[in-house]
Amino acid sequence: MVVGRFAPSPTGPLHFGSLVAAVASYCDAKSQGGQWLLRIEDVDTTRRVDGAGADIIHTLQHYGFVWDGEIVYQSERSEHYEQALTQLRKQALAYPCTCSRKEIADSSTQVGIEGAIYPGTCLHHPVKANTPAAWRLKTTAINLGFKDRILGWQQHAMAADIGDFVIKRADGLFSYQLAVVVDDALQGVTQVVRGADLLQSTTRQIHLQQCLGYLTPDYAHIPLVLNAQGQKLSKQTLATALPLDNLKDTLTQAFNFLPYLPKPVPRFSSLPALWQWAMTHWQLSPAAHPL
Ligand SMILES: [Zn+2]
Repeated sequence: MVVGRFAPSPTGPLHFGSLVAAVASYCDAKSQGGQWLLRIEDVDTTRRVDGAGADIIHTLQHYGFVWDGEIVYQSERSEHYEQALTQLRKQALAYPCTCSRKEIADSSTQVGIEGAIYPGTCLHHPVKANTPAAWRLKTTAINLGFKDRILGWQQHAMAADIGDFVIKRADGLFSYQLAVVVDDALQGVTQVVRGADLLQSTTRQIHLQQCLGYLTPDYAHIPLVLNAQGQKLSKQTLATALPLDNLKDTLTQAFNFLPYLPKPVPRFSSLPALWQWAMTHWQLSPAAHPL
């Protein structure tokens, strides 16, 4: 059974880029007779915008998406994340860290894919007293790779490119990486189709899956929708909210953007007919496009 998912963060309304990601995961799961789950990724409650979750759900319904099962909210799942952290602690794979950003920047000697590599200070020295601790996952000097369904082989040297990364923040919030891995596993997700901005996160997620004894889903990272300035559409780049009229035109634009549907997309008299065409013609295959 194929199980896919769409997992938006409720930091603002859906925009064209999020529609493209939703369409890709939806077509991929549904064209294989699979399930498609909807998960609201509000684990970082400091970034959550009131009403954005409900707005996203309403917009998806409006565009004709039908999800399977109950909508899952990460903000209600702390006990699952805590259990995973407990397991990692018992296995001595996680350790507390009281270093500040500045201390890490000052002591790090290596630069990875996202800046300074954590030098392992708190692994080798006692943590500071009366200081809130984050929890870090140990990485080892292995190359961890996976075959992306679109982009082919991807890998990172875990220690040199990533380093020991935070799975629970000092403010008590669980990290995106831990929450996603626990949710994908507990929800039985078998295929992740998402934007290429998350490509760099995937080896961390696979490392976590291996530490927790979870299966690894198949991954496919689709091209990002960029604005005229070449930036990813997002709240930060002031992407406009999806319109709630002209649904067929907007959905056709999303189908035209995705290289996994024939071009040009034919015109249809109804939204269901347009969806039906996409389900029949969807083919996720290695594409020749650059990211
Ligand atoms: Zn530390």
